[in-house]
Amino acid sequence: MVNWSAIDTVLLDMDGTLLDLHFDNYFWLEHLPIRYAAHHACDLESAQQYLHNLSSSLQGSLNWYCLDYWSTQIDMDVEALKIEVRHLIHFRPGTAEFLAFLQAQGKQAILVTNAHPKAMRLKLQASGLDKHLQTCLSSHDFQLAKENPGFWDRLREHADLDYTRCLFIDDSLNVLRRAQAEGVRNLLHVLQPDMSQAIRPKAEFPGLVHFTELMAP
Ligand SMILES: [Mg+2]
Repeated sequence: MVNWSAIDTVLLDMDGTLLDLHFDNYFWLEHLPIRYAAHHACDLESAQQYLHNLSSSLQGSLNWYCLDYWSTQIDMDVEALKIEVRHLIHFRPGTAEFLAFLQAQGKQAILVTNAHPKAMRLKLQASGLDKHLQTCLSSHDFQLAKENPGFWDRLREHADLDYTRCLFIDDSLNVLRRAQAEGVRNLLHVLQPDMSQAIRPKAEFPGLVHFTELMAP
């Protein structure tokens, strides 16, 4: 599936790729609406509708991922709310083995996430992911989300990357399409970002369900 002799660097998404997206889905769709309804003294349905509308209006922008922006908008400490359910932060199957494989192969592994730096820190600490990666980058430090035009040019300059020798793995089609448009040659699409949900259909990129598929001799 991957010609490893042609790859020097692996760029890795965090949520839905290395980590199970179940945490995020549970937090935004279940935990936050319950806590919002209690805090603002409204019914759960109104809370769900308000949060859904706010989320839809922000989709694709860096603010959608920005904990500080959300905290201001809903007048609640979103980081603290996430910490309440941090026990749900887990690796996707095969993550530790795959990162060990990359290290053994002498490949550079770089985390490239849209998660806000506070969310990234929480996830790294809760999962132990930081022990397996040399570099962890949040798109907030580049002032653009990964699906925004120009993000990948900024990343290449910052990390001094040769995109013809990079592999990028992500569960978001919009992000993969943007990376491809800006020159990242090898792309893999994670088809089961949330392990509690069904495998998604393959799209225009090679699909990946389990990391063991990439570790075949
Ligand atoms: Mg993701």
